[in-house]
Amino acid sequence: MKLDQHTALYGVIGNPVRHSLSPTLHNAAFSATGINAVYLAFEPSDMASWVGAMRTLDIKGASVTIPFKTSVIPYLSEMAPLARRIGAVNTIVNTDGRLTGYNTDAIGALRALEEVIEVPGKRCILVGAGGAARAIGLILKEKGVAVSIVNRSRDTGERLARSLGARFISLEAVDAAEGDILIQTTPVGMWSHVDQCLVPERVLRQGMVVMDIVYRPLATRLLRMARARGCTAISGIPMLVYQAAEQFRLWTGIDPPLSHMNKAIKEALKQDDLH
Ligand code: NAP
Repeated sequence: MKLDQHTALYGVIGNPVRHSLSPTLHNAAFSATGINAVYLAFEPSDMASWVGAMRTLDIKGASVTIPFKTSVIPYLSEMAPLARRIGAVNTIVNTDGRLTGYNTDAIGALRALEEVIEVPGKRCILVGAGGAARAIGLILKEKGVAVSIVNRSRDTGERLARSLGARFISLEAVDAAEGDILIQTTPVGMWSHVDQCLVPERVLRQGMVVMDIVYRPLATRLLRMARARGCTAISGIPMLVYQAAEQFRLWTGIDPPLSHMNKAIKEALKQDDLH
């Protein structure tokens, strides 16, 4: 893509953010659709100045990741209803200086599940009680799923369960959890704890859908165990691609080029394997 005086600017804010796959996804999407735009990564130290810069430089849209998903909210002009209900923003749309916050994590996770299972009426064991768990738990409850929250810290887990109208189960009692779907939303299983898994193998029953939203590595210990137990395993990649695709739709108003985005992510992760 040729950059020139008309190139529109987009980016992701987070800290750390240099490992992010979002630039790969969005630059592939802009290039595939012939949109004259570029997507960069920013590690702002101060939210007020970042938001000011977004307006001053006319940065058209931003993805928001850890640790800014809630701290950015007071600086926005308005919140979309789902983002308000979740209480976290992962997307900003800048319309002539008016900044609107959205949350596409929830819809990204839902789309990933819907590829393999009819969601309404199912039971879901949600491991973790952080921002991602809250977004996923809320959309699943709204889709008629019976959610059980399993979390290391009882107070955080109970608080999320209460606010969602879900059941809380402690990590020690995870055997009592029953589900058609299990979603792992903690960082356990990522590169730094690659051999760890919070869920004992016996909880994974044949036919269960098991999604780990961690995507580096692609096959976490949980997903390897799930496949061996006859479950349908979903990595964190479909959620990542779908949440980015919804961001692209919000920013441009056009259908996201999903096949190009998937191809770009596969290429990038292949590079991971080589290192
Ligand atoms: P967060 O708000 O910091 O929540 C972290 C959760 O993980 C908390 O429930 C915490 O439990 C639990 N946890 C952390 N370390 C643990 C450990 N060693 N043992 C047991 N539990 C532990 O983070 P988040 O925003 O929800 O993100 C969580 C993960 O999801 C990150 O790895 C992120 O990269 C990934 N993610 C992926 C996608 C995607 O598109 N695939 C989208 C969003 C996020 P306590 O309450 O006990 O502290």
